[in-house]
Amino acid sequence: MEILLKDPILRDIGRQMYELIGRLYPICRSITGEGVRDTLEIIREHIPLEVHEVPTGTRVFDWTVPEEWNIRDAYIKNSKGEKIVDFRKTNLHVLGYSVPVRGKFSLEELREHIFTSPEHPDRIPYRTSYYNRNWGFCMSHVRYEQLEEDTYEVVIDSELKKGSLTYGEMYIKGACEEEVLFTCYTCHPSMCNDNLSGIALLTLLAKKLSGIDLKYSYRFLFIPETIGAVTWLCLNENNVSRIKCGLGAYCLGDRGGLTYKRSRSGDAIIDRIAEKVLGDSGQPHRIIDFNPAYGSDERQFCSPGFDLPVGSLTRSPSHVFDEYHSSADNLDAVSAEHLADSMEKYIEIVSVIENDGKYESLNPKCEPQLGKRGLYSKIGSKYSKTENEADEMAMLWVLNMSDGTYSVLDIAVRSGMTFREIKSAADILSRNGLLRKVEE
Ligand code: ZN
Repeated sequence: MEILLKDPILRDIGRQMYELIGRLYPICRSITGEGVRDTLEIIREHIPLEVHEVPTGTRVFDWTVPEEWNIRDAYIKNSKGEKIVDFRKTNLHVLGYSVPVRGKFSLEELREHIFTSPEHPDRIPYRTSYYNRNWGFCMSHVRYEQLEEDTYEVVIDSELKKGSLTYGEMYIKGACEEEVLFTCYTCHPSMCNDNLSGIALLTLLAKKLSGIDLKYSYRFLFIPETIGAVTWLCLNENNVSRIKCGLGAYCLGDRGGLTYKRSRSGDAIIDRIAEKVLGDSGQPHRIIDFNPAYGSDERQFCSPGFDLPVGSLTRSPSHVFDEYHSSADNLDAVSAEHLADSMEKYIEIVSVIENDGKYESLNPKCEPQLGKRGLYSKIGSKYSKTENEADEMAMLWVLNMSDGTYSVLDIAVRSGMTFREIKSAADILSRNGLLRKVEE
């Protein structure tokens, strides 16, 4: 599989991801409802996503698929008829899953239903109440403090009724049934880094992989966070043994460095691959251990009854990036370059998954004489830093370690050389009849 992307192509993908985020940004998404369907419909312009509808009331392990929520309008008007909060300006103004309301309220009554973020007084926070019936509005703390005694007209024109939970899935068949799972969530309203960056990245990654001959099969999930993962796992319990490894994709457009959060076991193949890819990049990055107390759907995929080899690759983890769950997570919080940089790492991970393998030296008794095969060109100082020297070192590592036990990844980790260097040496040696690929 050749997907070694060069910069101009990556830059173009970054721009496409940013544009897709821009299109999806205004949509009012939630864990159910038309906003999710509209989002999946736009994704379907890029990839042939299969859309599933799971009816309200379906029991999924310890959870139940909730009623479907939709909203048309919401506002608070003062006695002068001025809208002081207007859902049409930003959907973050409404507490997600607010029940319908129509009535007059004093300021004191209204205060119980207003959510602000005093630590970031200019921002509108993002709040939801999925499983506890409530209604409310979110606004900046600055605006909240300006509210005067008055009689306010409150309208939330929403609807909670039997419907379904909607999710999208795309499967790309490779040569073998073993599959790689990529998952992102589709339930946040107008937020770019948390939510939309993962959707954009997986949409374009799936598009990229669709046209390539692949060894493994790939599955992409676009699901509401938590309840979507629980639902998908419940409906697909019998098939999860096919999952070779997986990654949760979110918060991939901010300006922070990349962060890999390990799977529950901590030494799954995806952990080794992601850590190696980030290490090979030479860029600053963080590796953090699995932690069920925060994060996203890896908590479900890594629950003890599944314990799947699924990690997550983000930029700043959600609890670290400053704009988290607020109106500041807008189009300025993400950049095309950072999205492209994240995409590069995802592609590199796929490249390692596809290209890893074990080899056997056909000349295991002492080193083969590379010079007579034109593979050892070094003359003079052995410390001269030439490209060939890296190749030669890599060849010596590959020849020594290739006894059918160690994979390219193993050799790359042990030698401290990059995966690409070791793989390229294995290819050269194979072409020269010194190495044979071991069939798995
Ligand atoms: Zn979030």
